[in-house]
Amino acid sequence: MAKAVEGRAVSATQREWAAVVQAIVAIVGSDAVVTALTHRLVYQWDGNTVFGGLPQAVILPRDVDQVEQVIRILSDHRIPWLARGSGTGLSGGAVAIQGGVIVDLARLRGPVQIDAIGPLARVAPGVTNLELNRAAAARGYFYAPDPSSQVACTIGGNVAENSGGSHCLKYGVTVNHLLGLEVVTASGQRLSLGGAAPDLPGYDLTGFFVGSEGTLGVVTEATVHLVKQPQAVRTVLALFDGPEQASQTVSDVIAAGMLPAAMEMMDRLAMDGVELGPYRVGYPSQTGAVLLIEVDGIEAGLPEQAEHIVAIAQHNGVQEVRVAQDERERALWWQNRKTAFGAMGNLSPNYYVQDGVIPRSRLPQVLQQIESISHEFGLRIANVFHAGDGNLHPLILFDDHQKGQREKAIQAGSAILHICVEEGGSITGEHGVGIEKREEMRWMYSDEELAFQGELRRVWDPQGLANPGKVLPT
Ligand SMILES: Cc1cc2nc3c(=O)[nH]c(=O)nc-3n(C[C@H](O)[C@H](O)[C@H](O)COP(=O)(O)OP(=O)(O)OC[C@H]3O[C@@H](n4cnc5c(N)ncnc54)[C@H](O)[C@@H]3O)c2cc1C
Repeated sequence: MAKAVEGRAVSATQREWAAVVQAIVAIVGSDAVVTALTHRLVYQWDGNTVFGGLPQAVILPRDVDQVEQVIRILSDHRIPWLARGSGTGLSGGAVAIQGGVIVDLARLRGPVQIDAIGPLARVAPGVTNLELNRAAAARGYFYAPDPSSQVACTIGGNVAENSGGSHCLKYGVTVNHLLGLEVVTASGQRLSLGGAAPDLPGYDLTGFFVGSEGTLGVVTEATVHLVKQPQAVRTVLALFDGPEQASQTVSDVIAAGMLPAAMEMMDRLAMDGVELGPYRVGYPSQTGAVLLIEVDGIEAGLPEQAEHIVAIAQHNGVQEVRVAQDERERALWWQNRKTAFGAMGNLSPNYYVQDGVIPRSRLPQVLQQIESISHEFGLRIANVFHAGDGNLHPLILFDDHQKGQREKAIQAGSAILHICVEEGGSITGEHGVGIEKREEMRWMYSDEELAFQGELRRVWDPQGLANPGKVLPT
């Protein structure tokens, strides 16, 4: 069974460690250094509760100068460390599997600076995705990548994971909205990457940093592109007998030349979970799959698009199809969908989220294979996913009190990923590699390609101290 391990500052002796803590306290203050076991325990997991690790200390700097000085001290003493945002990551990226120090960026939360001409925003790493969106909305804009965890996850974490969300089908993921970054590298060097001007000369280091999962350094500020809020939105809810008809509808909508902002699907088990939660929609018991489709843009033409989607759903034998009548109804449908992961707690004591990508056209076949895996391992698997992108999120339900179930859940998850790769997809769509999928990286890349990635990592982090043991197989 996977367990959290007691952290250790790998190469520091007790005396050296005490001196390091003292030096860090002198920079950040004693109220920003956590060493008590009971407090460190809070940091032993992230959103992935399968892989854990206990840090030896947690540091909470208040500004960039403090981040820089702390990283330099850790670098000088060869102490491993990792950056942490809100800890909502789902691949074990924000846990200290090799001990060492967690640098928690929660206190770097200056006000969001909006430049409406850009339109762009400068954001501190500890600001949450929802806070950025609220600040943008007050000026008539929005920040497009919208992870379902947006109420909690930070912009620093979003950059590190290249996060996506429901509306990324049309608008793209984090990397498509990032103009520049301020970072502190693993050796404590402060760098400015990219910037607001288009097509900067030289290598695209911003692009390289995005999705690096805390292995290159710390994001201390992000400059992001904002999008004008659409004039109008139409949201369609379509109920089907099963995923086959729903998947066909997804493919037919795209084939008809439409690009909805979002196309989300849930299967029956996922519906059972959310219907027990606070945002009940009232799905009939005979419904096997639900599709939530949203189109946005200028008002002219949108009603026709929604009607076209309704017609396509009807052609595919939809049980019932509705267009949201008002903002209240639309918000309920979205809350119902966005709380689906947590709603698994209504069905099972534990669940394990997987994240794989497949070509959209293979959805029905792959969902059938996931059902076979569910029978093979004797575990229920709910499916809730970004159907338009072919980004699956199988939720494998298990009971940790039953011996062997956790291991079975991990094996079932791995079997699903295998199918994704065989189908020409990928081992992760948006949750990153972290510790969870480190070995599966071998399914995607040759030894030479992995070694090349390792060489690039060493340029940023010659001592291998930043988030060690993550992303690349050892
Ligand atoms: C219910 C739920 C729903 C989710 N839905 C989505 C979704 O729709 N789309 C999606 O993409 N993800 C989703 N996620 C996953 C997760 O929320 C994202 O990966 C998010 O970006 C993590 O942000 P965080 O602040 O919590 O980062 P953390 O979990 O704290 O850290 C994640 C990684 O980023 C690194 N990191 C954090 N901050 C920094 C920084 N300032 N500088 C450098 N590295 C840093 C960490 O070292 C770690 O490797 C979901 C998670 C949950 C629990």
